[in-house]
Amino acid sequence: MARNDVHRQDYGYPMTDLDALVPRMRPYATTIFGEMSARASALGAVNLGQGFPDVDGPAELKDIAIAAIADGSGNQYPPAHGLPDLRNAVAEHQQHHYGLTVSSESGVVVTTGASEALASAVLGLVGAGDEVIVLEPFFDLYAAIIALAGATRVSVPLRVPEPGSGSGFTLDADALAQAITQRTKMIIVNSPHNPTGMVLTRRELQQVADAAIRHNLIVLSDEAYEHLVYDETTHIPIATLPGMFDRTITVGSGGKSFSFTGWKIGWASGPPALIAALRVVRQHLSYVSGGPFQAAIAAGLRLPDQFFADFSAGLAQRRDLLSKGLRGLGFEVMPSAGTYFVTTDIRPLGHSDGAAFCDWLVTDVGVAAIPISALADDAATFAPYVRWTFCKRPEVLAAALERLATIR
Ligand SMILES: *Cc1c(COP(=O)(O)O)cnc(C)c1O
Repeated sequence: MARNDVHRQDYGYPMTDLDALVPRMRPYATTIFGEMSARASALGAVNLGQGFPDVDGPAELKDIAIAAIADGSGNQYPPAHGLPDLRNAVAEHQQHHYGLTVSSESGVVVTTGASEALASAVLGLVGAGDEVIVLEPFFDLYAAIIALAGATRVSVPLRVPEPGSGSGFTLDADALAQAITQRTKMIIVNSPHNPTGMVLTRRELQQVADAAIRHNLIVLSDEAYEHLVYDETTHIPIATLPGMFDRTITVGSGGKSFSFTGWKIGWASGPPALIAALRVVRQHLSYVSGGPFQAAIAAGLRLPDQFFADFSAGLAQRRDLLSKGLRGLGFEVMPSAGTYFVTTDIRPLGHSDGAAFCDWLVTDVGVAAIPISALADDAATFAPYVRWTFCKRPEVLAAALERLATIR
């Protein structure tokens, strides 16, 4: 467990002068994803660091956005909480896929990506002195928005797998229970989980739910990868567990679900009492977001089940391609049940420090990956793990594996 004042790792990259930046945001000056992408492009490395697809989503969705620009219907401020058609589509999607009934009138807000939904939730629901629990490693945005809110981050490490066991990361329910204090206000959960690729089991979600109910906490559920689950895995929104809907904000991402990460359309849904708080904050952040893209994402959410099945089957193939290749090179590859990512343990290759390993990899081998320790307060526990994205064309994955073959 660690708190905000923990010194985050410095990777030695040049930083601009930050004297003008408010002190509470100084630890968040850069993101590992941006840094690694910048180095990958400067060095001509194959970028398996940042998770963005290199093939666009459905052409029919592009056509809708293009038409909304051409016919003028999308070019002025859309309604404050989102296009009614998109709010309806979110409500229909939650009902159709998960049996969740949300009000498109008062239980949905459209945001500038899942990012703004997460920021609005934290800024609107927690304040100075409140504690927010995150399961680490975690998507780095959480730490920054908790700091923006003046709240305190309390990280609970996931349990790491036994080396060689073939299993993955798991929730440490005891550590979660111990982390809760009188000041705890919110737990942020993210399943499917970035960076590890784990998907919380129903039992693990129930353990989070039990803690939230027992201590009357809000759960902020980042489900950006809800449609990126593989094999027999199903995505379970924590809001579907008994007693959870009224205390849960569920966040989705049009970028992740439809492979248009540059459009930045996201949403939050949940009980009107919580969504009303998000709406207030969000209207003072970006106010509204891209009208033409909202129209397109509404159609995306209504795509037939087959679309989502094909999408996940295609990604699962690429996960297998990369996992098999990395395993063949000697890495221990953790199972990835969801997301764009696979995590490896680098110790079988004789390395133990993922940050140093990734630094060397991008410079000397020409492949970018992300050290998991950069996404954790407890850097030592997560030091031997490295995250790779497989949301790239097979030839790009093959090119990365070819370069990696030289490290054996
Ligand atoms: C990409 C990502 C987001 C942000 O999604 P946007 O829609 O691009 O804002 C949020 N959470 C996780 C875990 C992500 O990986």
